Amino acid sequence: MTERTSSDVILARLAALGNEFADVLGHRVHEVRKLWAPVPQSASYEQARAALTQIHDIVHSLAGSGKSFGFPAVSTAAAPLDGLFRVLLEHRQPLTAEEIAQIELLVQDLEKSSLSAREPITLDDLKAGGALPTTDRVGLRVLIAGPDSDSENQALRDAIIKFGYGCDIVASRADIPPVILQGAPAVLFADISATDDYLTAVRQGPVVSKLPLMVASVQSGFADRLKAVRLGAAMFVAKPYDIPDVITLLSAVEEEQTQRSYRVLIAEDEKSLAMFYQMSLEHAGMETRIVSEPSKLLDAISGFDPDLILMDVYMSGSTGLELAQIVRQFPAYTTVPILFLSTESRIELQLQARHLGGDDFLVKPLKPSQLVSAVMSRANRYRDLKKLTDRDSLTGLLNHTNILRDLEREISVAARSGAPVAFVMVDIDHFKKVNDTYGHVVGDQVLIRVTHLLRNRLRRVDYVGRYGGEEFAIVMPNTDAATACAVMNGLREASNAAEHQADGGTFKVTFSCGVATYPQFRTALDVTQAADEALYKAKHSGRNQVVAA
Ligand code: GH3
Ligand code: MG
Ligand code: MG
Repeated sequence: MTERTSSDVILARLAALGNEFADVLGHRVHEVRKLWAPVPQSASYEQARAALTQIHDIVHSLAGSGKSFGFPAVSTAAAPLDGLFRVLLEHRQPLTAEEIAQIELLVQDLEKSSLSAREPITLDDLKAGGALPTTDRVGLRVLIAGPDSDSENQALRDAIIKFGYGCDIVASRADIPPVILQGAPAVLFADISATDDYLTAVRQGPVVSKLPLMVASVQSGFADRLKAVRLGAAMFVAKPYDIPDVITLLSAVEEEQTQRSYRVLIAEDEKSLAMFYQMSLEHAGMETRIVSEPSKLLDAISGFDPDLILMDVYMSGSTGLELAQIVRQFPAYTTVPILFLSTESRIELQLQARHLGGDDFLVKPLKPSQLVSAVMSRANRYRDLKKLTDRDSLTGLLNHTNILRDLEREISVAARSGAPVAFVMVDIDHFKKVNDTYGHVVGDQVLIRVTHLLRNRLRRVDYVGRYGGEEFAIVMPNTDAATACAVMNGLREASNAAEHQADGGTFKVTFSCGVATYPQFRTALDVTQAADEALYKAKHSGRNQVVAA
């Protein structure tokens, strides 16, 4: 009750502030235009400095406040200007023609954004403001819509929790956990008998209304499937529940919702433009890293593992075309998309670049929206392709080659930061007996369940791979041996408790682990050998245990 009231007070205050913001918005944007007009003709940096400072103050504040007051488009348009002006003021150099053209375009965007209609502010917006931590894993939560007293709901919740997902039964909107309103990954689960009114009431607000909906029904004929579609369901499951099926659906949703944000490496020696690209892309939820010296490019690629490289055609010391060829010399990077940035006048280079493995060209100056969509679509396609080539088809985990590559990369990153890296080998005990007793298909199901268990209990930053038949490998950045052992023992116990189903009844499986860490072992090869030996010891000391090298 009190929470409701205080939220109302906050909303009312924000609305009042929003009115003030709306009143002066046009004026402030006009001010930017007026201050900017004479700058391109300025004889020197000093002459332009006062105007640049004032513009920066205005766009900085617009970028920060637009979204809170119902003008998200203003924030989006002002953020890249904010970044660009910040660098210009640090550098104290006269503006280049490229920078002037870029700013002109951005000021036009800002003017357009200030004309967009104001959006209502809701409580969900307020709560969604806090950024989610990206380092620690935020697992998927399942919200079962319906009464808590329902035994079917309770059984489903218990089963889902066993697989390592969070799960809440939500009898009304008030039961929705706050983390969900802050944007934590979640899926809504409802029985088809839930009334439209009830579902509508639960699914209010910008965050909850966008959650994927999974609908369950005893009838799985056309009529019920159609009803589910009309309720807005993205997935349909038949009752009685086939739990492994439900879990497989959940893990697909989780994969989509919790995948790492796209990583874009920006190779651009003009710092102001690099900042502009950075702000535009980060505003759209991507991670970026800037390289301004060509000689640092390879290091940056191997440490950052980008989904796309944004490459200036002209960089001091070497051209972007030369750099692209160097990148392509490395087998691991032959498919990373490279997007070249160039001005219209360098058209002849564009043709050459296409020959040399550049994927496409963007012509400067660029609107942030063009940049974001060009980058997003290529990074997305690259990720999809990588999923096919880098992953094991049964479990969807990284394959042997790729988990080793991730280990090598994390060790090279750790060599600079001084942090430890743990490597774990997991081998299912007496797995041959599972196959012999229940058949290969049941064996496969066990592998899938163990996969879910590992994936769901580990952090987002941990890498999980299928090392071989019934062997898994895990890379845990920033983790020492004691922590890795504790985590694996927790997982081992959870796995011991899980019951697997087969025609002949239920059974359980155990697994053994070998743990080795960098820097105790110096190279990726030493680490994997040490983990292998530790696993061997675990097997020979009775299995179902974790041994550190
Ligand atoms: P230990 O405790 O010593 O590890 O005994 P184990 O039986 O688990 O080990 P062993 O290496 O003798 O047998 C592994 C078995 O895993 C043999 C193989 O048929 C089975 N296997 C490997 N890959 C798959 C797979 O993809 N699906 C199924 N169902 N079984 C697999
Ligand atoms: Mg084995
Ligand atoms: Mg085994």
